Amino acid sequence: MATKPLEDIEFSGYRRKLIEKIRTSGIEDLEILQLFERVPRHLFLPQSMWPRAYEDTPIPIGYSQTASQPSLQALYLSILKPTINDTVLEIGTGSGYLTALLALSADRVYSVDRVRGLSAKARATLDDFNIKNVALMVGDGTIGWRKFSPFDIIIVSAASPSIPQALIDQLGEGGRMIIPVGSRENQSLILVNRKKENIHQEVILDSCAFVPLLGRFAWSPEHPKQPGT
Ligand code: SAH
Repeated sequence: MATKPLEDIEFSGYRRKLIEKIRTSGIEDLEILQLFERVPRHLFLPQSMWPRAYEDTPIPIGYSQTASQPSLQALYLSILKPTINDTVLEIGTGSGYLTALLALSADRVYSVDRVRGLSAKARATLDDFNIKNVALMVGDGTIGWRKFSPFDIIIVSAASPSIPQALIDQLGEGGRMIIPVGSRENQSLILVNRKKENIHQEVILDSCAFVPLLGRFAWSPEHPKQPGT
């Protein structure tokens, strides 16, 4: 990765503190911690947010969206354990930061966002890092990306009132998915495992607050403020 010099002296100290924070949150897997070392989060964020880039918090990225909290993304990785044989579908490219972390761990990453501006910026940043195993699409991720299914891993980075059936259908044998499900204000993080026709669901985190998934099988994009049912 990295055709550009990675700045970096200014930010590497902050990044190490973030990694320490992720470690103390309970993620001790060295391979995961090294991913956070390798990918400079600030370069995926608007420049005005760089001073906060290594805080363990969600960060605004424009279009009323936020980049997710890094320790939560580390939790995703520690549970889903992507390997170089895995094909991943990500719903909610956003900044492209998690996309990059996944690209360095998996065989291929397919990532969908409904906001063209975010997808374009993510593409440019991923290109800067010479990451080539990512395909991006602008569209409604609640219908998945059937053409490249089945997926070993599906990650949904926006809150949904329920688990879209299309995503369950596109999960391969032994596949696993994480998705925040609940109301617009508060969700539980659900892990879905597929073994043959058996779909097993468990709650892995009780209370989180993601931005809403807007689409055909989630909340209506025409009325983004309407309460979920
Ligand atoms: N993992 C990203 C999270 C971005 S926030 C990051 O850390 O940067 C969630 C993203 O989901 C937003 O970019 C939003 O535009 C996108 N989104 C919301 N509804 C969507 C849908 N139906 N299909 C695809 N993306 C969607």
